[in-house]
Amino acid sequence: MLRVVVLGAAAGGGVPQWNCGCPVCLMARTERPELRSTQASIAISADGAHWFLINASPDLRQQITATPQLHPKAGKLRHSPIAGVILTNGEVDAVAGLLSMREGSPFTLYAHERVLAILKSNSIFNVLNEKNVKRQPIEVDRAFEPALPDGAPSGIEILPFEVPGKGISKARRTRPVARARAIRSGFGSSISEAANISTSSPPARG
Ligand SMILES: [Zn+2]
Repeated sequence: MLRVVVLGAAAGGGVPQWNCGCPVCLMARTERPELRSTQASIAISADGAHWFLINASPDLRQQITATPQLHPKAGKLRHSPIAGVILTNGEVDAVAGLLSMREGSPFTLYAHERVLAILKSNSIFNVLNEKNVKRQPIEVDRAFEPALPDGAPSGIEILPFEVPGKGISKARRTRPVARARAIRSGFGSSISEAANISTSSPPARG
């Protein structure tokens, strides 16, 4: 059975956004705390023991703390159930949380080679030592199955596909980002447009 935990559903900046005085952010700070939301990300698992994150939002540390499924196993000094992170793009909203995943725990990073190039060109991401954190290129329109730490198949199939991004210019309105369109567990269940869960419209953003 495929398990999905929505870690956050807000657009970049979250709700309330630190510098936003719009009515929604004002209410979220005061009488409507239920409006607060961390930035978009989901965690998925086929076995309930090993988890893969779709994007690492700037709020990742807080999201892990709030999600028991992502806590270290009881009795272990160093452990994480997070087996991998799948990046759909190289924007700060998707990658900044990786900086909270330093400290030497192994996991695998899956991303398009252009996204991996962004990480490589920015030395701050060297906190993720490639000895521990393998960087695995993924291709648009080619399904892949992320692996468990022992190399066994995870039971999750992910099909990245290209979507239009923010216009760089009128002539070039697409970018090769990978969005997980269909995430399928080994037991036959699937969710379509999984990435849309994580990018669904949040309350108004300032
Ligand atoms: Zn606002």
